This record gives sequence, structure tokens and C-alpha cells, in this order.
Amino acid sequence: MSPNTRPRHLTKSRFKLALECPTKLFYTGKEDQYPDRKRDNEFLQALAEGGFQVGELAKLMFPGGIEITSRSHDEQAAQTQRLLQREDVTLFEAAIRHGQLFVRVDVLRKTGSRIELIEVKAKSFDSTSARPFRGARGGIDGGMKPYLQDVAFQRHVLGLAYPHLQCSSFLMLADKSKTCSVDGLNQRFKIGRMGGRPVVTVLPGTDAQSIGAPVLSCVNVDELVDEILREPIEAPGATGALSELAATWAEQYRTDTRIAPAIGAHCAKCEFRVDPPQAGMRSGLHECWRDAAGLTEADFAQGTVLDLWNFRGKQPLIEQRVLRLAEVPLDALGDQGGADGLSRGARQAMQVTGQWPGRPEFYLDAPLMRREMDRWVYPLHFIDFETARVAIPFFAGQRPYANIAFQFSHHVVDADGRVEHRTQFLSTTPGRKPNYDFVRALRAALGATGTVFMWSPHESSTLNAILDELGQDPAPPPDAAALGSFIRSLTTRKAGSGDVETGNRALVDLCRLAERAFFHPATKGRNSIKKVLPAVMQSSEHLKRKYSRPIYGAMSGIQSLNFVDQVWWQEVGGAVVDPYRLLPPVFTDLPREVVDALEVDDDLEIAQGGAATTAYARLQFEDIAPQERRSIEAALLRYCELDTLAMVMVYEAWKEWLR
Ligand code: SF4
Repeated sequence: MSPNTRPRHLTKSRFKLALECPTKLFYTGKEDQYPDRKRDNEFLQALAEGGFQVGELAKLMFPGGIEITSRSHDEQAAQTQRLLQREDVTLFEAAIRHGQLFVRVDVLRKTGSRIELIEVKAKSFDSTSARPFRGARGGIDGGMKPYLQDVAFQRHVLGLAYPHLQCSSFLMLADKSKTCSVDGLNQRFKIGRMGGRPVVTVLPGTDAQSIGAPVLSCVNVDELVDEILREPIEAPGATGALSELAATWAEQYRTDTRIAPAIGAHCAKCEFRVDPPQAGMRSGLHECWRDAAGLTEADFAQGTVLDLWNFRGKQPLIEQRVLRLAEVPLDALGDQGGADGLSRGARQAMQVTGQWPGRPEFYLDAPLMRREMDRWVYPLHFIDFETARVAIPFFAGQRPYANIAFQFSHHVVDADGRVEHRTQFLSTTPGRKPNYDFVRALRAALGATGTVFMWSPHESSTLNAILDELGQDPAPPPDAAALGSFIRSLTTRKAGSGDVETGNRALVDLCRLAERAFFHPATKGRNSIKKVLPAVMQSSEHLKRKYSRPIYGAMSGIQSLNFVDQVWWQEVGGAVVDPYRLLPPVFTDLPREVVDALEVDDDLEIAQGGAATTAYARLQFEDIAPQERRSIEAALLRYCELDTLAMVMVYEAWKEWLR
């Protein structure tokens, strides 16, 4: 079917999109004109978390269910209608259509004139919580609202198409209060690929018994759905009953009519943004802001209020039509002082004015940095972890989204400045739980002395999660006490009394230090290591001199466990190439930009390390080809090594600038 003859129905995903912003309906699905930055991200995030597998697991909980497999919307709706004539039936992916509204329902159970509509999601919740979908003030929890609005839309369409049936609605979610009772549950749902889309193959012999005690729970959400259907719904530029908005949006989508943009803070996360401009591609965001407020390409090049880092006051400024970065009044930024280094407001002011004390190229609070460095003890240890959290557990005894620490990298810098990639750990053996081995290996690697660094608190929270696991383990390992005291020495955690316990060698967060003492305009105020590294490389003479030679992994150069004669400082067109771009991708069967987006795109709130989680999940399948296994493992090792090397390089540049 050609794109022009494809039915233009308002589906679940398009309704969800319109709730974010109705104008997006015009841009969606026109990839050749308006690239969509979220499309592949959402796909890979579902892959990483196990969203596709959860759907298959849910089906096993309804034996005898019939899948609607017809090809076209018309055939799917007709097949569903035929099957719903039965007195009792369970359908998977039932197709319900009314006019231009069309939904596929994950699980639909009919008994006489009663019908149960069940939406299955990999999202986690806790069924022991008294009101799991309500916030502290009693309203619908903001994080759950899109899921519940999705169910409400389905119920609305079902009610229109089958008014004689009495419908109850449910959400089926990964329940963090449930413990998996069988080993290898995740591996029973093998993800493959067909035509670029995921295909889940269920291991033969998998049935309602072999999946053990359910880790998915089904919750009746009628009360919440009624509330959504009763109360007006708000979307940018639109307010009204769900039924009215759905009818309007369906008609606008059918006729491909662009709904006038209501620009606002929500535009910061707009997926239809092409920046910088690229030949042959249109940027939905640029067109909206041009039409609504007259912004030009030159304005975008100079920066807009959308680019302002960690700024919660975008909406009022946009409503006052303060749109260009340079127009933002400094008194809108909040406190710009700060006894403990740069405050958020002070960083934002640097971004707005392009001015700061000291060097013209970047800001460095040398006294603060020196004070911090004076406390550090050599050898310096730089560590980075890769972990996986997926909806369906790999091991018995785990809950959904349990922490799996399967990889670390470890660089050491001695007092004389010598750099070494000294240790690494990677455990992907199918069926082998890596957490305790991971801590043992880390303990051996770090030895007894030296300050240990992380970039962001992920390493600390991972270790604390393993400490909790040790405490709850009904059969702890013989060295549990030693592992526990090692973790305590490295972490900061809340004690039972509510006090904060800090280990005698607690991890130092270099990201937090960068926030307090360093601002480089090329980072646009952001502080992820993948943003800070290229900016620092651009400005550091030391890094240029040292890493523009093939010394990394060379015989008499810097010891590396995964690289040989690597040149990290490379220049194209006067700009340093981002070192991460020099690595081959983890997955050769996925487009480069898709994997990159998983790793680096913090605009779109994509789970960091999603590619590593996906890689771990793939490596848990026994029958993965040895060549593919080796290639994924080698890529993981290189990426993780670069993560700790990046920290070393930032440290070296800061040292250089303090001289
Ligand atoms: S730029 Fe803003 S108004 Fe335009 S589609 Fe995106 S979110 Fe909507």
C-alpha cells in the first residue's frame, strides 16, 4: 500500500502524539520531509526494556486467546467483529474502528455482553501501594497519565463501535512487588528482527506453567478512566472532552491539515527538530516558531530559550514572547550566587550572556578546583559501570527492573601523571548472575588506596542496590560481609535512622564538580561526559599534543586493554572529532544514528546506556552466533574503556589549566 492510499486513522499512538502537541499530527509519518528524532529511539528503548517481550509474556497469561493477524485495517476490524460475535472469546491485538478512529487492543476478553480491555505495558508499578496511580495530592500521577489516557481513548472507541457491550478497563504492568520464581524467564522470549522490526520468538515449551508466578499484574483502572473521560483534557492550544478532541484531531489528520502551532516549553522536547539545518530536510520546530513568532534561522543559530540548560521558567517567557537566548532577562534565572561553586542560575547566566570571568574560551573556578584536588589521594581510580534493568527478569529471585551490573572499566592515574587502563570486567555468560562477581572484581581492582571517581551517581546507586540485594539474599555468598563492607566504604547511603552514612573512600562525582566549577559554551550548559569531553578536547593544548599521536595502546605508550595505537585527537574541518564517533557501533545491524541516540541524547529523555542493556539482553540468548557474541562484547569493552578514558582526559585538561 502506498503512503498516499494508507488509511489516515487516528490511532492510539497518534492520539498520544496529539496530546503532546496537536501540530505534530501534521509532521508525523513524513520521514522524507520531517525527520522524527523519537521514532527509532522509542523503538530501541522498548527493545532495551523488553517492551516487546512483555507483550508476549502477557499473552501466555490468557491461554486460548486468538491473535488478530489480518493485514489491512479493514480486514483486522472485520476479523475482530466476526470473533466478537462469539459468546466468550479472548482476542490479542483486537482491531476496533469507528469512523476515523482506530485502535488495536492488546488483550480483549469478552464474556457475554461484558468486555475487558487490557492494555499491556513494560512500565513498572508496585501493586502493594495503596493508590499506585495517584500523586500525593490525589490527582492522577503525571507519569501514569499518558498510559491511562491511552486506555481511555481505547475505551472511547470501543464504546462507539460496540455500544451494547459493557466495558471494564485494565492496565497490565511489570509489578515490582513480585519476584520471579523461575530462572531464564527473559530468555524464553527471544528478540529477533524481520524487516527492521522486532519479532519475539517464544521458546518451545513455554506456557502458563513454565513462566512461574506472574511478574505482571493486572489492575482495574475504571475509576481513573472515567475521570479522564469526564473531565476536560488539556493539550497545547486545545482543551476539551476527550471525545471532542479525538473527533477534531481525527478530521484534521484525515485531511492532512496543519493545526496552528501553540508554541511553549513543550517544544524543547519536540522530535521534529533538525538542528543545525540539513539539506533536503525540514524542521517542524523551526517552521512552528517561524509561523508563530517570526523566528529566523539566524535566531536559531544564536540560540533560543529552549536551549537554556535546566531552566524551568521557559513557559512564562515564551508566553511573553521572550524567545531568543540573548533576550532572557537575568532576573528570570533565579539565584546566581553560590557559596559552593556555580549555582544553576550562574551557569544559565553564562549561557545567556556568553560572559564569565577569567579566560575567554571557558570558565574554570581554579581555587575551588584546587581545593578539591588537594584532597585527592594517588593513585586516582576512574570507574564506569554498565548495568541492565529490564522488565522481565533473567534470574529466579529477581523482581522486574532488578539491577544487573555486568561490566566495568577502570583507568588509573599515578602521581607522576602516568595513565593506564588497568582493569575491566565483563560478564555476559547466559544464566550466570554477575552482581557478586562484579563487586569482587572491583574490590580486587581498586586495592586499598587512592581516590575513586565516577561521572554522575550511577556507580554509587548501583553498588547500593547490590548491597540491598546482599542483605535480602536468602542464601548469601560466604564473602557477603567483606563485599558489604567494601561497598559501604565506597558509597553514601541513608542509614535506618535517616542519617547519611558516607564511606571512608566514598566515590567522588566528577560530573558534580564540573557543574560547580567548569562551564564551556560548547556544552550548552550540559554536563554529561559525552558533551563535556569534545568541548574540553577542543580547548586543551595538552590533550591535543598527547592524544594526536598513536600512543594509546602502543607498546611504549599508554596501556590499553582494548585499543592498539589509537589516535584519539583527530580534527575535521577545524573541529575535533567526537571520540565516540571514532568507535564502530555496538550493533552492526542498527543504523549508527539510532544507537548514538540511545547513548547520548539527553534531550529526549532516553534511558542512558540503553545500547548496553540491549547488548546484555542479546548476549543472554544461548544460541547467539559466536562471531556476533565476540563482536558485541568487543564493542562493549571499547565503549566502556572510552567512558573512563574520557574522565581521565577531562581530569588532565583541568590539571593543565590550573598550572
Ligand atoms: S515545535 Fe512545538 S508547536 Fe511545533 S510541533 Fe513541535 S511541539 Fe508542537
